[in-house]
Amino acid sequence: MEKPRDHCIRCGECCLRSSPSLQASDAPLVYKNLIKRSDLYSVRVGELVRDNIRGELKITDTELIKVREKEPGGGCVFYDDTEKKCTVYRHRPVQCRALKCWDESEFMRVYASPKAGRREIISDHTLLRLIDRHEERCAYARLEGCVNRIKGHGREAVESVLQILKFDHDIRRLIPEKLDVDPGETDLILGRPLTKTIIMFGLKVVRQPDGTFFLTLLDSSL
Ligand code: SF4
Ligand code: SF4
Repeated sequence: MEKPRDHCIRCGECCLRSSPSLQASDAPLVYKNLIKRSDLYSVRVGELVRDNIRGELKITDTELIKVREKEPGGGCVFYDDTEKKCTVYRHRPVQCRALKCWDESEFMRVYASPKAGRREIISDHTLLRLIDRHEERCAYARLEGCVNRIKGHGREAVESVLQILKFDHDIRRLIPEKLDVDPGETDLILGRPLTKTIIMFGLKVVRQPDGTFFLTLLDSSL
């Protein structure tokens, strides 16, 4: 009979499956630039996210900071497939330190500790004000409200959805231009673009030749 695993054999399966989110105690890794802000993105409240514990999709009621995943294929961006190792091993997030695939107890203890949100890792006041302004205009709850009105209010509700998408799109372009911020950090500052995450509502955005957005069903055969 095969002996149950009792130590890490560095097979990398956990790193290939998904990426960690940051706990509040990981904030110094970001401040010291041991983990670059451009390798992170935010999951905003109300956004659809994969729950790695239950293995299912859920709407998050807590803001999360996630390490980016590789595209295509998934898995943590810090995993080097050729060398088969973590490129930030000495400074890996606390969830990774706690993960033992043969015993979940330490991971669950860490997972229950306070999560990092944008306020734990961004200190610039201008950016924090911008995050608040963006939330006022582009919160998922607001977007969902407008999407739900489409059935009864048609064009007018579609216009309000498009206005939210446009604000989100324009502000992303302005941040690197006006604030001298690495464009790769935009998904951390504002979360992922709404033009991509709108698919959680069964909708998609098509960019018209004149640059305007056109909203349609994700499955247009419906
Ligand atoms: S924790 Fe488990 S899955 Fe992850 S690298 Fe170690 S042995 Fe592999
Ligand atoms: S940070 Fe390192 S240990 Fe953690 S999932 Fe990514 S590659 Fe694996």
